[in-house]
Amino acid sequence: MAELPRILVVEDEPAIADTLLYALRTEGFAPEWCATGRAGLAALAAKSFALVVLDVGLPDGTGFEVCRTIRKASAVPVIFLTARNTELDRVLGLELGGDDYLVKPFSPRELTARVKAILRRTNGGSAPPPALVTTAAAAVRPASVSDLSGANEFIVDDEGCAICYRGAALELTRYEFRLLKALVAKPGRVFSRDQLMTAAWEDPGASLDRTVDAHIKTLRAKLRAIAPEDDPIQTHRGLGYSLRAVR
Ligand code: CA
Repeated sequence: MAELPRILVVEDEPAIADTLLYALRTEGFAPEWCATGRAGLAALAAKSFALVVLDVGLPDGTGFEVCRTIRKASAVPVIFLTARNTELDRVLGLELGGDDYLVKPFSPRELTARVKAILRRTNGGSAPPPALVTTAAAAVRPASVSDLSGANEFIVDDEGCAICYRGAALELTRYEFRLLKALVAKPGRVFSRDQLMTAAWEDPGASLDRTVDAHIKTLRAKLRAIAPEDDPIQTHRGLGYSLRAVR
């Protein structure tokens, strides 16, 4: 008997995982379950899978981060599961190399239909699963992932008042959010402290200049926590701040 296509389910909620595993098994797949991103990556390193179902909200990070790591070494199809239906998630998920996207709650049947559609698309149905790109080949992979270091390094979600930096959601205060949003909107442009204050504070007159400096400082620390080697916010002595122009 031919081997059933192996599907990796990375989902931290056991009830949801149970439902997914049952539905996938019923449809003739061989699903395996991991509850954390770390365990999922370990499973992918240990054997090949035809497809990965990846929850966005994992206990040890976001599914986006996991996908980015997967894409460094593998072209395995990825379906994201998320509790939130925001443009941010959709755009980010697809930019990071996701193949499809399901918003919770969804029916198990919906998922298995998507899995089948993707497998049909990627290997013509009965052909064996696509070979995993080896680590050696990863060096010459197309630029779809590294695109994030350019114009999409920052993704602003206005409605959710959230900003993603290199695929990781930043936890920002209201003022940090508004400051960074202003900088991100015009990379390369130098903003004076006055201009930044007008952009971020309802009552700029009540604050001192150094308030901007203090918030830029905490912002930089949060960005450094994600990419320690990089400092995209530039200081212009006597003038103000800018976001590094897109390379
Ligand atoms: Ca979750």
